[in-house]
Amino acid sequence: MHPAKAGLTENKKMPSKKLIIANWKMNKGLVQSQQFSDELKSYIEKHKVIDAEIILCPPFTSLEAVNRKFNGTAVKLGAQNMHQESIGAYTGEISAGMLKSCGCEFVILGHSERRQYFNETNALINKKVLKALDEGLKPIVCIGENLQEHDDKLTEPVIEEQISVCLQHVSEEGMANVTIAYEPVWAIGTGKNATAHQVESVHNFLRKKLKKMYNEEISKNTKIVYGGSVTPENAKELFAPQTVNGGLIGGASLEVDKFVAIINSAH
Ligand code: PEP
Repeated sequence: MHPAKAGLTENKKMPSKKLIIANWKMNKGLVQSQQFSDELKSYIEKHKVIDAEIILCPPFTSLEAVNRKFNGTAVKLGAQNMHQESIGAYTGEISAGMLKSCGCEFVILGHSERRQYFNETNALINKKVLKALDEGLKPIVCIGENLQEHDDKLTEPVIEEQISVCLQHVSEEGMANVTIAYEPVWAIGTGKNATAHQVESVHNFLRKKLKKMYNEEISKNTKIVYGGSVTPENAKELFAPQTVNGGLIGGASLEVDKFVAIINSAH
């Protein structure tokens, strides 16, 4: 096997693979994060072929430790949030520069739990997206309708508003570094995933919107992943449509076995 196709070797020339993002949320201390990383690393080295792009998003306190394990490999590091300013008197906050200094390449922005529990609005998320891009971090921008909006058949207008505001003033060049995560709020952590058909239709809607906002190329090339109760059992079906570039995984990313099973269903 070509070494670049195997294991942990980085290869930027490979055709686009499915993108599997682990969001550990407020789980795992330093020791658990290191244990997970060791297990995942030895699985990848043993089995060689991982036909997916992997991004791990541990809590801030584990970023550096996870980076030490995977630095220079094809497994990338992301944070779960950041502040919209570069520096200053913002007690308890973390800046884009700080994340970069821990080895982060990506940052999840606008997760529904940030919107719900920390009152993050589309306008604030937009500021964070612009700051991340400005400072060389790649944002993973989360959007999605809640249960009421879903039941009221408001999915399209809701996500249209979210994407329009969250991506305001993001340039065409900037879009090369943006990933969108469609995460219906009613599916996050509930064990109730959207169907592959629902996901495909929303992703197609988002691509049409991106075409209007930007152009055909950006509409085709922007990575759009699905998140919401992805498991080893449903991953294959959910990731099958071509328009779905992968998944953002919460609960099932906390155990190596489940996470690896999801990665393996991605190809
Ligand atoms: C998430 O945290 O973004 C998520 C999709 O969680 P879960 O997979 O647990 O639904």
